[in-house]
Amino acid sequence: MSGGVRDLVDPYGRVIRDLRISVTDRCNFRCTYCMPSEGMEWLPRSEVLSFEEIERVARLFVERFGVDGIRLTGGEPTVRAHLTTLIEKLAALGVDLAMTTNGATLRNSAHDLRAAGLGRINISLDTLQRERFAEMTRRDELDNVLAGIDAAIDAGFEPVKINTVVERGANDDEIVAMAEFGRERGVEVRFIEFMPLDASGHWANDRVVGQDEIVERIAAVFPLEQMPARGAAPADRWRYLDGRGTVGVIPTVTKPFCGDCDRVRLTAEGQFRTCLFATEESDLRSLLRSEGDDDALAALIEAAVGAKWAGHQINQVSFIRPARTMSQIGG
Ligand code: SAM
Ligand code: SF4
Repeated sequence: MSGGVRDLVDPYGRVIRDLRISVTDRCNFRCTYCMPSEGMEWLPRSEVLSFEEIERVARLFVERFGVDGIRLTGGEPTVRAHLTTLIEKLAALGVDLAMTTNGATLRNSAHDLRAAGLGRINISLDTLQRERFAEMTRRDELDNVLAGIDAAIDAGFEPVKINTVVERGANDDEIVAMAEFGRERGVEVRFIEFMPLDASGHWANDRVVGQDEIVERIAAVFPLEQMPARGAAPADRWRYLDGRGTVGVIPTVTKPFCGDCDRVRLTAEGQFRTCLFATEESDLRSLLRSEGDDDALAALIEAAVGAKWAGHQINQVSFIRPARTMSQIGG
């Protein structure tokens, strides 16, 4: 079977438009809410998809299923060697191409990434305090990340967004300071509710700072007005009433947005996931390496999307933590 584009529609009528591709499980940081301090076992190189394999899967999603957005993630995508080569291949598909990165090496690479065709960039930054940064990421790299943000702005990424995971007792006293940072740099800060995908298993509901509290704390200092509904994007957004930009919150735990989800995920070793919190995966790599043709790949993808669940159950007793952590799935 071949021919025109046909939508990938799940049992709840949601159309898949966005593919998140993890290009590596490795990382140069060890964020406490993501990885253990040591002892991560990396995938052997042979198990990680090659650029050609990633491109083939991406092309299928774009040309056969009408996916129009691709985000590269990891692990830390910038630790994958020759990343610009992959970006060139994916940019040629004509999609909205984005990347999420910890920003530590962007000072040197932002312009090359932009020139290769990367359109948008999200940089993770949870604190502006050097010692706290070193505690939360287990790396003393705050200055490099700040320089990376400046380099991304200078390279012309539009927009540059900052991802800030908020964990009660760790960095929630910096919500307003982070919002102010965004206003001053002209970047949108998106606060992310802490999710149960940490390697240490220390996640607990009382460590989550919910969207309402985040917005209240910011609005008490910088008045806000909510912007129109988000559509399929994960962030709810607010505008500063004084015109100094926007701020977002990704309320995965307190206000799940599964009903509008248009995302699917490919892990670094070629497992296909229909949800960040999925407990099952489909093995695309085996098909890719057993000379399965595109129809066979498409059939496996359609079967998985055909079984996509309504949503995660974080707040219910039925919730089962995925066996993988955020860095292994690709956040
Ligand atoms: N290494 C890159 C980075 O940190 O931006 C990309 C991968 S990281 C897994 C993607 C995003 O997930 C980051 O913004 C990170 O802060 C976020 N993240 C990781 N663990 C999380 C958790 N337990 N809860 C909420 N967000 C988390
Ligand atoms: Fe690495 Fe990103 Fe996980 Fe931090 S959040 S340990 S930077 S993958």
